[in-house]
Amino acid sequence: MQLVIRESSTAVGLWAARYVQQRIQRFAPTRDRPFVLGLPTGGTPVEMYRHLVEFHQQGELSFAHVVTFNLDEYVGLSATHPQSYHAYMNRHLFDHVDIPRDRTHLLNGNAANIEEECAQYEAAIQSYGGIELLIGGVGIDGHIAFNEPGSSLRSRTRIKALTQSTKQANARFFGDDVEQVPHHALTMGVGTIMDANEVMIMAQGSKKSLAVHHAIEGAVNHLWTISALQLHPHSTIICDEEATLELKVKTVRYFKTLMQT
Ligand code: PGA
Repeated sequence: MQLVIRESSTAVGLWAARYVQQRIQRFAPTRDRPFVLGLPTGGTPVEMYRHLVEFHQQGELSFAHVVTFNLDEYVGLSATHPQSYHAYMNRHLFDHVDIPRDRTHLLNGNAANIEEECAQYEAAIQSYGGIELLIGGVGIDGHIAFNEPGSSLRSRTRIKALTQSTKQANARFFGDDVEQVPHHALTMGVGTIMDANEVMIMAQGSKKSLAVHHAIEGAVNHLWTISALQLHPHSTIICDEEATLELKVKTVRYFKTLMQT
């Protein structure tokens, strides 16, 4: 696992955007060989998306041969609800770049047959040969996508009940009313995430520091699903200084030395 530390939350967003840009450009995608991205929502990646849109507008980055799969979607919100992840993705990325709409994929949280919806999502990912770069945030409780504590580390795309802690954390997007936050979501499983060729998790602020500690210094443990990344051959955590507060000084120094070399 690689840990990249930047001085501020905004620097994390810029670093992540530059990284995505470089990965896409080095891959040199074509129509028949697209670059497949796994994409997150929430507060964490907003700055990254802002820069990606900026790079596109400056003519530095095209999404014409990019395919996307979002990590998760709420159950019970219509796609046009402003807090649905469909609406979020349109607002922050898809409406502003040249990605063909039929190459963007989000789970349908209102599907009549949830099991079938999740199985089809997994099959759609497979049809592109899997995800090349999966980007995620991390919850205060260490969840990746909506894989809440206790999720199987081999789980696949399925429905999950959100914990009270997650609902409270997301209440800020619902007028601070926790009752308005959906109780369930469809989410890629930890196993689905682990199948990506590369995983990059972003973390900003001291409230994420315990999750970062469990990810890097803790044992692999289903109570902190981010810790599964320890078993991934190509994973990176990109975080700000604040998010390292629960790490040992020795750990921080080690990764900073690696960054310099
Ligand atoms: P946040 O959520 O980006 O809104 O902090 C991250 C997550 O819950 O995965």
